[in-house]
Amino acid sequence: MIHQYDVVIVGAGIAGLTAGLQASETCKVAVISKVYAPRSHSGSAQGGMAAALGNEEDDCWEWHMFDTVKGGDYLVDQDMAEILAREAPERVIELEHLGVPFSRNEAGKIEQRRFGGHTRNLGEAPVKRSCYASDRTGRVIMDTLYDNCLVRGVKIYNEVFVMSLLISKGKCCGVSGYALATGEPIVFHAKAVLLATGGCGRIFKTTSMSFAATGDGFAAAFNAGVALEDMEFVQFHPTGIYGLGILVSEAARAEGGILRNGKGDRFMERYASTLKDLAPRDIISRAILTEIAEGRGVEGSDYVYLDLSHLRKAMQEQKLSEVTSFVKTYLGIDATKDPIPVAPTCHYMMGGVPTDAQGRVLADGKTQSLPGLYAAGECACVSVHGANRLGTNSLVDLVVFGKRAGKDISNYVKENPLQLFPTDAESAVATKIDSLLASTGNERMGEIRSEMQRTMTQQCSVFRDNNNLKQALNKIRQLKNRFGNIGLTSKGKAFNYELEDALELENMLNLAEIIVFCALQRQESRGSHYRNDYPERDDAGWLKHTLAAKVQNGLQINYKHVTVTRFEPKARVY
Ligand SMILES: Cc1cc2nc3c(=O)[nH]c(=O)nc-3n(C[C@H](O)[C@H](O)[C@H](O)COP(=O)(O)OP(=O)(O)OC[C@H]3O[C@@H](n4cnc5c(N)ncnc54)[C@H](O)[C@@H]3O)c2cc1C
Repeated sequence: MIHQYDVVIVGAGIAGLTAGLQASETCKVAVISKVYAPRSHSGSAQGGMAAALGNEEDDCWEWHMFDTVKGGDYLVDQDMAEILAREAPERVIELEHLGVPFSRNEAGKIEQRRFGGHTRNLGEAPVKRSCYASDRTGRVIMDTLYDNCLVRGVKIYNEVFVMSLLISKGKCCGVSGYALATGEPIVFHAKAVLLATGGCGRIFKTTSMSFAATGDGFAAAFNAGVALEDMEFVQFHPTGIYGLGILVSEAARAEGGILRNGKGDRFMERYASTLKDLAPRDIISRAILTEIAEGRGVEGSDYVYLDLSHLRKAMQEQKLSEVTSFVKTYLGIDATKDPIPVAPTCHYMMGGVPTDAQGRVLADGKTQSLPGLYAAGECACVSVHGANRLGTNSLVDLVVFGKRAGKDISNYVKENPLQLFPTDAESAVATKIDSLLASTGNERMGEIRSEMQRTMTQQCSVFRDNNNLKQALNKIRQLKNRFGNIGLTSKGKAFNYELEDALELENMLNLAEIIVFCALQRQESRGSHYRNDYPERDDAGWLKHTLAAKVQNGLQINYKHVTVTRFEPKARVY
């Protein structure tokens, strides 16, 4: 089946819907989602969205920009961080006018709370900068955008799996994939395509991300020849529910929650004397694992406690209702009485598809654009998060750069004719699906996936070193070979989840290889990328972005400079 639109947006999270809503002012827009659209991961965001509104205490965009740059360990492109911080307040107000029910303070203004790494006056003390709606911020923003998109006539396609970008004469002119319900190929022919497919946390064993976070958008761009940027920077959130990885939002510490080791000590005082439990996530994740490695985990095990028992008031005021209900549901714990067992969980990808400030994809990561292709949200890397993203800075990234992409797409669509798309677009999808369904190899996907997740978690997560990374690279390459010999047991076409699993696993294996490869090259420690064998940050050698591109016999690494405008790199003390 072939559909035709001005613009097709892959991904119905907050980035995709923001861009879609904006573009719908002048364009015919389709939004595609492999899951039922309102189940996109953006709906799980709890804590909030950073913007220097100054509703609670003095704040300004320069401080927000500084915190973003410092939080990202100076790998942030500062011109982009400036846009993020400057435009954030306007975007929050705009969301409010669209109907987002933000929590309010006694003066009737949008209420704001603290979050890790956000400070006043360039690092003096924590500042209340995060705008929120109870602990369901992402849910209400996404639902509001979704409603507004429907009103504007944006067409949403649920349960369509996008496999490839269509490129013709050097321009992107659509996407191809298949309908999960029927297994039949679908082509979306358009003047412009926006990738807004979210992250790829499922590569790791423990993650806070949803099952859909398999990195299909990164992979589609990479396969189309786009170099991926800064893929070695993977964020581990310090407080995943132990054993499950489900997130206990940073909002819990923002409201006063305290991390304690097995001895009951508030250990963060030793690692970040000013911000303590609200230091950036990379620092806290390493602190937790250091406590555990030095024998101060709870009862000799590999977790610590998050103590909320003194926060009855916040809980009664519904500021942490999701958090408390999660731990009740999954652990049977009453957070007003008992501490919550937590450990780091894979949470966010700082790297991704390189774009400029308008969301235009840069194929070589530097200057060469791929006309018609845009990216926004977690799958994109406009480089505002550098080596470590601050909490609540993703939602604001989605709306600031999602909106900018939507605007640029409107102009692009006006000025460019519809390009013919490759004639074999549908048949290529059918061939791929048929060959997977016909596969009879003796490798099982579940085993390959588990081994990939175990390898990535044990050898390429919070602490890394040369030996482990080399072993991980070999292992992932072996798994890629084994994937060539898989056999699908389910042969039907209707809702064949084994087929979908196969396509996702292929993408994840490719991305795992890229992450490990980039991590192996970077011989320094910066933000979320910590090398035991190179424990210092090395600005002389490594203040540069990594670009990983596909070449005939593997991967090619390139680098590009980091844009420094206002804040010269300094030691990161909190
Ligand atoms: C539990 C949790 C809590 C968080 N809390 C916060 C917070 O409080 N504040 C904050 O700033 N950030 C938070 N984050 C981070 C933030 O929520 C995410 O980075 C962000 O929501 C990603 O949005 P997105 O629009 O890029 O993509 P997503 O919301 O992840 O949506 C991806 C979309 O792409 C679609 N898709 C993917 N692959 C395909 C394919 N092959 N074919 C078709 N469709 C496809 C999916 O169906 C989905 O619609 C949190 C993240 C998690 C996991």
